Amino acid sequence: MPCDFDLFVIGGGSGGVRCARVAAGHGARVAIAEARFWGGTCVNVGCVPKKLMVMAAEYGLAARDSHGFGWDTPPGRHDWAALIAAKDREIGRLNGTYRRLLDGSGCTAFEARATLLDAHTLEVGGKPVTAERIVLATGGRPVRPQFPGAEHAIVSDDAFFLPDLPRRIVLLGGGYIAVEFAGIFSGLGAEVDLIYRQPLPLRGFDEDLREALAEAMQAGGIRLHPAATIAAIEPVGSAKRVVLSDGDVLEADLVFAATGRLPNTAGLGLERTGVATDGLGAVLVHDAAETTVPNIYAIGDVTNRLNLTPVAIAEGHSLADRLFGPAGRDWALEAVATAVFSSPPIGTVGLTESEAALRGPADIYLTRFTPMRHTLSGRARKTLMKLVVCQRTQRVLGAHMLGEDAPEILQGLSIAINAGATKQDFDRTVGIHPTAAEEFVTLRTRTRVAPAPMVAELDSEGTPAAMGAAGMGVGAPE
Ligand code: NDP
Repeated sequence: MPCDFDLFVIGGGSGGVRCARVAAGHGARVAIAEARFWGGTCVNVGCVPKKLMVMAAEYGLAARDSHGFGWDTPPGRHDWAALIAAKDREIGRLNGTYRRLLDGSGCTAFEARATLLDAHTLEVGGKPVTAERIVLATGGRPVRPQFPGAEHAIVSDDAFFLPDLPRRIVLLGGGYIAVEFAGIFSGLGAEVDLIYRQPLPLRGFDEDLREALAEAMQAGGIRLHPAATIAAIEPVGSAKRVVLSDGDVLEADLVFAATGRLPNTAGLGLERTGVATDGLGAVLVHDAAETTVPNIYAIGDVTNRLNLTPVAIAEGHSLADRLFGPAGRDWALEAVATAVFSSPPIGTVGLTESEAALRGPADIYLTRFTPMRHTLSGRARKTLMKLVVCQRTQRVLGAHMLGEDAPEILQGLSIAINAGATKQDFDRTVGIHPTAAEEFVTLRTRTRVAPAPMVAELDSEGTPAAMGAAGMGVGAPE
C-alpha cells in the first residue's frame, strides 16, 4: 500500500520548513508537523526576537552618543512592555508568514506533535500517518543547569516574555546567548553580572576577539566574573542571593542561565526505528543528513553540529533537492561565517589564529582603533579587525571582527574567503572610504607570525605596536 506522504518533516523550524517547501516544489507529497510555533527557535525564541532586543538596546546607547554630535536628546525611560508587545506583534506576523508559505507550497501542515511508531509510521495528533521518508528537524532546547536553587533561574525561552526588565540581572554562561543578553539587558539599563567558567567568554572564538569583547563589556558597565560558576541560588523575598563558586555573593532580581542547548529527541520514538543518537541525544548523521536508518534523515540543531539557522536551512534545502529534485545548490559548509550580537557585535569566519597555527605558520594582521562615530560620541569603544593568512599560500584562512556592523561586514568577507582569496587579493581591492570595513583591505603591516609566542599586542593606547596608518579607524589613505 502506498504511504500517505512521500516526505514527512517533524519540526516546523527554519530547516524543516525549508525542506518541506522545497520538496513540495519538486512535486513530492509533503507533510510537516509542528507542536509549538511555526518558525521554531529562531523566529520565536531565538535569533529574530533577540536581534530586535539588541536594536532596542542600541537606541538607548545611540541617544547618549548623539550628544557628541550636538543633539540634546534627554535621557529617556525605556518601556519594556512596549518593546515586548511590539516584538510579539512582529513574531506573530512571521508565524503567519511561515504558515502561509507552507500552505502555498502545497504541504499538509499539522499543528500537532508527531512521534515515530516505526520507520514509516508516525502518530500525529493521535492518528497514524505513513511516509516513505521522514526528516527529523526538531531542533534543540535550553539546558537547565543543576545546582541548589537552579529552579530559580530562567533560561532563554523565558527571557523573551519577562513582564518587566529586572534591575539587577545575573547571567550564567560565556557563550553566544549569555554575552548577547548581557549586552541587551545592560543597554536597556539593568545592572548585569556575567559569570563564566573560562578565563574569557566565547570559548572557541579567536583569542583576540575574546579579550576585546571582555574589555568592551567591562567598558560598557557589565561586571565580569571569569573562572567562576554559580554554586547556589537562594530566594530572599522577591530577590535572589547568588552564591558563586569563588565565594562571592551577589544580590539579583533575575538569574538567567545560558549554559548551552540540547537536541530535542526525547519522546520522539527514535528507539522504535533504530535511529542512533549520541550521549547528548543528538541524532548521528553521516553524508550530510543520513541517519542510521535509510529512509530517515536529520537536519539542523537536532544533529548538534553547527547549530546555526542558515546551516539548518542549507541542510534542509539540499536534502530536499537530493531526494526529489534536480541537483541543487552547492553550499560551502566548511567556513561558515557566524555573528554574535554582543555589544559591540562580533563577526567571524574561518580559522582562528590558534587553529591556523596548528596547520603551519600563519601571518597575522591585526588592527584596533576607535571607530569614527566614537571620536565624537566619546564612548569608550574600540573596533578590532584581524586577518589570519596562511604564510605558504597567502590564502586568507580567517577574518575576525569585533565592532559596530561586524556581522554585516563579515558576510561579504566570507564570500571572498570561501572563494579562496589571498592576502594579495585583499591588498589590491580598493577600499570604501570612510568606513571601518576598508581596514580589511588596508592591513599592510604584519602584526606577528603565529605560532610565534604571543607578545603584548597592544600598547597603552590600545593600538598594536606594529600597526601603521591602518589604525586610524577611518581607513586613512596610505
Ligand atoms: P554555548 O554552547 O554557546 O555556550 C554555553 C556556555 O555555558 C559556555 O560558556 C559554557 O562554558 C557554559 N556552561 C555550560 N555548562 C555549564 C555549567 N554547567 N556551568 C557553568 N557554565 C556552563 O550555548 P548558548 O546557550 O549560549 O547557545 C546555544 C547555541 O545556540 C550556540 O552554541 C549557538 O550554536 C546557538 N546560538 C547562536 C547565536 C548566533 O548565531 N548569534 C545566538 C544564540 C545562540 P564552557 O565554554 O566552559 O563550556
